[in-house]
Amino acid sequence: MGTACGHEHHQHPPGVEAVGRALDVAEQRCLTDGDRMTAPRRRVLELLLTAGEPVKAYDLIARYGPDGQAAKPPTVYRALEFLERKGMAHRIASISAYVACTAADGAGARGHAAAFLICDCCGATEEVVAPVGQTFAVAADAAGYALERTTIEGHGRCPACRAAS
Ligand SMILES: [Zn+2]
Ligand SMILES: [Zn+2]
Ligand SMILES: [Zn+2]
Repeated sequence: MGTACGHEHHQHPPGVEAVGRALDVAEQRCLTDGDRMTAPRRRVLELLLTAGEPVKAYDLIARYGPDGQAAKPPTVYRALEFLERKGMAHRIASISAYVACTAADGAGARGHAAAFLICDCCGATEEVVAPVGQTFAVAADAAGYALERTTIEGHGRCPACRAAS
């Protein structure tokens, strides 16, 4: 994400080991659920985990090949669709970007409500566990809906930007 503000930001993208562990957890979950962690699904999740921040679909397409080769867009979109359905990645609609789930070791439960705090100054995002997700699920249930995806997006300023302004 671009930095709109002039002040310093310190990002902490996960290291190679943390990314490897998260991929293993995701792979194990696919196995348990009887899903296949195909090469594209794994690669897209790896890119999201490595970035440690929301990434636009076209950037995922551009970064897909280890040797700088772009992927065919449907390959990436199909992988994203799968990861989203599994709750391993989320689409943040208000910034049109995808992010790896950071709840439960990078592989949140299927269909969990994802709540995001989004900084409008530096673009930082944070997935939090918010009771509103649970309340929302209860309301949906009462209305007879079977929810597959819930994403709650809250915009404001992160602690770093609040401190800097
Ligand atoms: Zn999540
Ligand atoms: Zn910020
Ligand atoms: Zn800022």
